[in-house]
Amino acid sequence: MNKLSLVKIRPDQNYVAYFLTMACNLRCPYCINIHNGGLRHGNASGKKMTPGEWIRAADRLVLRDDLPLTLQGGEPTLYNGFYKIVSEVKRSIKMDLLTNMSFDVDEFIANVPVWRFKRKAPYAAIRASYHPGQNDIETLIKKTKKLQDAGFKVGIYSVLHPSSKVSGHILKIQERCARLGIDFRTKEFLGEWNGSIYGTYRYDGAACGKTMKMCECKTTEIIVGPGGDIYKCHSDLYGNRDPVAHILDGDLTAAEIGTFRECRHYGKCNPCDVKVKTNRLQIFGHTSVEIKNVRGL
Ligand code: SF4
Ligand code: SF4
Repeated sequence: MNKLSLVKIRPDQNYVAYFLTMACNLRCPYCINIHNGGLRHGNASGKKMTPGEWIRAADRLVLRDDLPLTLQGGEPTLYNGFYKIVSEVKRSIKMDLLTNMSFDVDEFIANVPVWRFKRKAPYAAIRASYHPGQNDIETLIKKTKKLQDAGFKVGIYSVLHPSSKVSGHILKIQERCARLGIDFRTKEFLGEWNGSIYGTYRYDGAACGKTMKMCECKTTEIIVGPGGDIYKCHSDLYGNRDPVAHILDGDLTAAEIGTFRECRHYGKCNPCDVKVKTNRLQIFGHTSVEIKNVRGL
């Protein structure tokens, strides 16, 4: 087994995400994992790290108090070893979880230490997504209540789709959750719908662009796919291309991940990476990547 140096996350690095699996038990038609033709199912069946490898990968991190390790996917709780990881990683690592909450809530409560998902933050550490037509809001509300009663901080999130029928439904659910003491937040719809592009983007033509270009790109995030590869951005992750390093490389440094690198996929950027958004401190105006020197292929 190779010796791993500690990876100290820099002050300008805002997000550390381990995508335990791309597999999911829902089939949302707009799934971000298949954005721009990426292969969700192809990725789901590719190489995967073992629970022991994920634990080593998490144990080598040195995170700031305000920066958790986010477990996501796909549906991360489908990963066989999810409970082992959340229980056995060193205690100083706090985690966030992005989930569709399809897991068995009693099993979750019995196997997940509450402290792992407990820290001071302006949003819940466990963020469940509500996908109308895919998961049932009554079940989500019941599970959220049960988790709250067990001491977990849980929020439900839903994308405010431009269709007035869907957004009207979501806003009604939000009002109902407020009455029930449940933190229900909406997220901006990003991408194309009915011929229009939604979202505020820092770089013209980077997401949903008509022409592919070259550029240099630097990320503020550490994005690790199911096989342990580290990617520059979500577009590379979902497209399964151009990893920059591996999370179990012995001498990996955070600085090496956050440097400008050549990219030939400007135009195919994932909206999440180039939109202007709120950072972890809830301050608006942040973009996950910095792009320069855009030019024709
Ligand atoms: S729950 Fe998330 S990962 Fe699963 S299909 Fe829906 S959008 Fe995709
Ligand atoms: S330019 Fe776009 S596709 Fe290329 S690395 Fe940056 S965010 Fe990813």
